[in-house]
Amino acid sequence: MPGREAALETQGRLIVDVARLPKGGDVYKGETGPDLLGLGDSEFVTPVGGIEYALKVDILGTELLVRGEVRQRLQCVCSRCADTFESEAVDPDFISSTEINETTDFIDLTEEIREAIILALPGYPVCQETCRGLCMACGANLNTGKCTCRKTGKDTRWSALDAL
Ligand SMILES: [Zn+2]
Ligand SMILES: [Zn+2]
Repeated sequence: MPGREAALETQGRLIVDVARLPKGGDVYKGETGPDLLGLGDSEFVTPVGGIEYALKVDILGTELLVRGEVRQRLQCVCSRCADTFESEAVDPDFISSTEINETTDFIDLTEEIREAIILALPGYPVCQETCRGLCMACGANLNTGKCTCRKTGKDTRWSALDAL
């Protein structure tokens, strides 16, 4: 079915065309245009491309039910070591339900999907759980193991004790 892939997006909004929804529901898959999140100057996280969605849309009685997965690829800056790495914000259980009636033509899912992704964003991303961050003294990346000033500081302290 041509055009189906883009069926959820109209001028940057994610819209279900309720009037044209087939009986038995439908499945929508696609990717929005970029910048839908509007994160602006987020310190650690930059969206890459648009929000990808795979959603099943059903009408159950007077309720429009949308279920599926939404995901956003991300370029992250590690909050410990400042390295950049790729990641994703995923809501695998996105769900939305809206009361509808005979006069409902469209349901706009943009804000709900946007919020689901924002909730899934890492507040303080780390490149790996074991990231050791930067040396407070010299700024060296301790993941590379090249900082020697810690050791030196420790040696100095111990030699001071030794001198007592
Ligand atoms: Zn890191
Ligand atoms: Zn150091």
